[in-house]
Amino acid sequence: MIPSVLPTYSRAPLNFVKGEGSWLIEADGRRFLDLGAGIAVNALGHAHPALVDALKAQAETLWHVSNLYEIPQQQALADKLVDATFADTVFFTNSGTESCELAVKMARKYWYEKGHPEKVEIITFSGAFHGRSSAGIAAAGSEKMTKGFGPMLPGFVHLDWADHDKVVPAITDATAAILIEPVQGEGGIVPLPDQCLKALRDLCDEHGLLLILDEVQCGVGRTGKLFAHEWAGVEPDIMMVAKGIGGGFPLGAVLATEEAASGMVAGTHGSTYGGNPLACAVGNAVMEIVNTPEFLEEVNRKAGLLRQKLEGLVASHPDIFDSVRGSGLMLGLKCKASNIDVVQAGYGQEVLTVPAADNVVRLLPPLTLSDDDIAEAIARLDAAAAQLSAQAA
Ligand SMILES: *Cc1c(COP(=O)(O)O)cnc(C)c1O
Repeated sequence: MIPSVLPTYSRAPLNFVKGEGSWLIEADGRRFLDLGAGIAVNALGHAHPALVDALKAQAETLWHVSNLYEIPQQQALADKLVDATFADTVFFTNSGTESCELAVKMARKYWYEKGHPEKVEIITFSGAFHGRSSAGIAAAGSEKMTKGFGPMLPGFVHLDWADHDKVVPAITDATAAILIEPVQGEGGIVPLPDQCLKALRDLCDEHGLLLILDEVQCGVGRTGKLFAHEWAGVEPDIMMVAKGIGGGFPLGAVLATEEAASGMVAGTHGSTYGGNPLACAVGNAVMEIVNTPEFLEEVNRKAGLLRQKLEGLVASHPDIFDSVRGSGLMLGLKCKASNIDVVQAGYGQEVLTVPAADNVVRLLPPLTLSDDDIAEAIARLDAAAAQLSAQAA
């Protein structure tokens, strides 16, 4: 008999009832160190007092009004994002994949309004993940996500990851945009080298294409900059955001330049919940904390510390781990043992990590994790690796 919850997830038998900072407490009382943070969502950890206060205060005042009316919390968050980034304008969504939907629509509408309705194609890359909506799976294009789901939304051209020589020949009169994650998450924590992102920006300028970045996982302080593309010193035309921006409250956004957004006039797009007062109250609190030089500096310091200790961990377990990769607090352990076994051995040591493609274990801890949490993380991962080695022997 089918479970009452549609069985599309393979869930670990863990039932968390409370969260505190970098820790999750199981119903049986065990305390798990959370190095997954809801897959890069709980950017400020669990139950951060500033976020709890923001949500409570808004909940006692006004939960929801339609986008038929002004929403001051939404205006304030849009102003913060515009001030802090390349963007001139923001549309709020509820999730990453909804941000993908709008990014695709916006790029096509841009060219339509410019008198180029033939420009509809978007170039994407292998290993990509843009969520599970029809546009998201068509954009990523992997068989795992698309098989059995009927005709795909047309207009996506899939190229090999970071193979620059393949991009130029793929550009035609029908090309509208290039869409890429500055650091692939689901694909296995694969940072795009800065020179590749710069080269893609140059190509877009040369051929008059829009550059769309998916920063749903790597954005909002995760890599030690507010947004990951800042490391390369280039700016996109359109950017997808979600996950960390809501700190655990469902919230996403599409940021764009005035030019790229010029086709999106009244009536061309909408969302019932997108930019709702509750979500934006929390989003404002997240931005106030994350978008400060002190906070981002701490992310970089802790990322350096964690990475250095992970290098040591890899060196002491050459049978289990191959290498460390990633950017900031978006780190991947490329495994020699099965990544699923490593994640499960972690459960035994009460430490939570997340598997990704390419046999990688992802570490996406709260950006607020402490130095003690880092030491604890290494001790627990070390114990998990030792246990796996002992099992294999
Ligand atoms: C998680 C993710 C998405 C999809 O976000 P949802 O909120 O699950 O729809 C899109 N792109 C990237 C890079 C992601 O990591």
